[in-house]
Amino acid sequence: MFNFQIEKPKTALIDYQTTYDFIALGLGPAGMNGALYAKRKGLKTLLVGYDLGGQLNNTSDVDNYLGLGNIDASIMIQKFTEHIKALEVPMLTEVRVTSIVKNDLFEIGLDNGETLRTKTLLYAFGGNPRKLGIPGESTFASKGVSYCVTCDAPFFKKKHVLIAGGGNSALDAAIDLSRIASKVTIVHRSQFKADKTTVDQVSKLPNVEIHLETQLLEIVGDVTMTGARVFNKITQTESLIEADGIFIEIGHIPNSSLLQGLVELNDAKEVKVDRFQQTSIPGLYAAGDVTDNPNKQIIIATSEGAVAALIATSFINQKGDK
Ligand SMILES: Cc1cc2nc3c(=O)[nH]c(=O)nc-3n(C[C@H](O)[C@H](O)[C@H](O)COP(=O)(O)OP(=O)(O)OC[C@H]3O[C@@H](n4cnc5c(N)ncnc54)[C@H](O)[C@@H]3O)c2cc1C
Repeated sequence: MFNFQIEKPKTALIDYQTTYDFIALGLGPAGMNGALYAKRKGLKTLLVGYDLGGQLNNTSDVDNYLGLGNIDASIMIQKFTEHIKALEVPMLTEVRVTSIVKNDLFEIGLDNGETLRTKTLLYAFGGNPRKLGIPGESTFASKGVSYCVTCDAPFFKKKHVLIAGGGNSALDAAIDLSRIASKVTIVHRSQFKADKTTVDQVSKLPNVEIHLETQLLEIVGDVTMTGARVFNKITQTESLIEADGIFIEIGHIPNSSLLQGLVELNDAKEVKVDRFQQTSIPGLYAAGDVTDNPNKQIIIATSEGAVAALIATSFINQKGDK
């Protein structure tokens, strides 16, 4: 795999006295595309965040972004960044947002001690897949270990894959994978937490094997993963399950803490949005993996960022202050 050096865009000289029309928080696909759309609409725009590319930095290659074919994730970041630079979208990078307060304007506190002010705000701080935290998990990341069935299932055509987890997302993953892989083995440390209908559906699939009350101990392999060591809590025995891959489907951690108490979140602490990416506060939008959209994908995050920017433009136009 190639590792291309991404030229960091120059951070704009920021006038902290300015009132922005639109600030996009988050340098992942959602924030970047939101800022791009807002800038093209003529809004006084700023893109703010820490690491350029967001979760793309943890990805090897991407195979499902229309028009780009199979692309190395670092090249994808480079392409997104070049587009942002070409449209001269002002950007403040390598800062962490520490607070968000809503008065007449949104006031955004930064870890450099400064405060930004804006009429509308796009919150796109993404999230991260929950990890098992066992030996071999990071060693074989993208070498058999995956956190995204939608992204990676086709790479396991006619192979044997494990699924870690026992909730609805794990069982939905098993149903999807049963159509592609030759065999799917679900390993879960306790009993299923998924809906009964989904459990019944999975139990009837001929190429799905279920190991409940079974703890994953280690993912093993050489160049790529070759299996996982597990411990059966009932028989108190350890064994090795040989497999070509494992999908870890044990949840997603949204970076929504800065909105807690400010907007409505769901039980999973994801930001609730409507189909225009509006949160429960007028002028405050959320897009991408931090929202309650269960489909966490680059193309979805970018499109949601665009929707948010367009709706923010209408919001500003209707208020009449340009
Ligand atoms: C291993 C892996 C492989 C994947 N493969 C694919 C794939 O093949 N295809 C696909 O479509 N999707 C894939 N995804 C999912 C995809 O990466 C996400 O859906 C997408 O990145 C979400 O974009 P986002 O902009 O919502 O958030 P993110 O990409 O998570 O970006 C959020 C940004 O906000 C920043 N941030 C958070 N908190 C703060 C703060 N307080 N201050 C400043 N900045 C902050 C973060 O540093 C980050 O830059 C994969 C994900 C992973 C983890």
